[in-house]
Amino acid sequence: MSVSARNVVKQFGAFTALDNVSLDAADGEFLALLGPSGSGKTTLLRVLAGLEFPDSGSIAIAGEDMAGTGARDRRVGFVFQHYALFRHMTVADNIGFGLSVRPRASRPAAAAIAARVTELLDLVQLSHLGDRYPSQLSGGQRQRVALARALAVEPRILLLDEPFGALDAKVRKDLRRWLRDVHDRMGLTSVFVTHDQEEALDLADRVVVMNRGAIEQIDTPENVWNRPATAFVCDFLGGAN
Ligand code: ADP
Repeated sequence: MSVSARNVVKQFGAFTALDNVSLDAADGEFLALLGPSGSGKTTLLRVLAGLEFPDSGSIAIAGEDMAGTGARDRRVGFVFQHYALFRHMTVADNIGFGLSVRPRASRPAAAAIAARVTELLDLVQLSHLGDRYPSQLSGGQRQRVALARALAVEPRILLLDEPFGALDAKVRKDLRRWLRDVHDRMGLTSVFVTHDQEEALDLADRVVVMNRGAIEQIDTPENVWNRPATAFVCDFLGGAN
């Protein structure tokens, strides 16, 4: 599903975290939000998710205005940097959680939830670890559980906030290829926050470069790299151009 922000302003007190931000992710697109710490990436992701509400401007999913709807109505999947898995639940129960807490009318039967969890364990290549607890997994494995949990509710949009930020470089690299593969195979629309330019350029169809709550450039990785639109983008990419 497509997702778009139109002229979004978000203030925290007197501080403007998002200053008239507009962007569109097309159906099936993988967008990376890139920028320094404090540039508004997480705030934009939270506004898209319905976890924060803009002071002005609008969010649309599949062309439909999301005013007055929260995270649950929007059917977005969210993956955070710090796993946010339930420690007292097995891997399988973590993955099935979003389905098992649905209102009775839309909750699948226990057997259907179990079948879906088995499918997702297979997708994230953790079939052998369904009975383990999060504390028994590596960081990379935990993050794959978090992704499976986000996918369990069949999200229309997948939002990822520095999901690999806590992992070492080798694991990060493996996981980002794998994430891109999952995105493509499942036909997802994904928005991925990172401050790592190599990760953004490697992973995304288009890169959104943010600075001080505003968008400096939205373009393909090639163009952001070869034709930085502003001095900020040029400096942020290391002045290599
Ligand atoms: P990024 O993800 O690019 O690091 P954020 O969107 O997290 O940036 O934050 C942008 C700015 O907004 C930061 O200066 C941050 O301190 C501020 N901010 C974010 N959330 C809040 C909040 N709930 N209350 C006050 N200030 C906030």
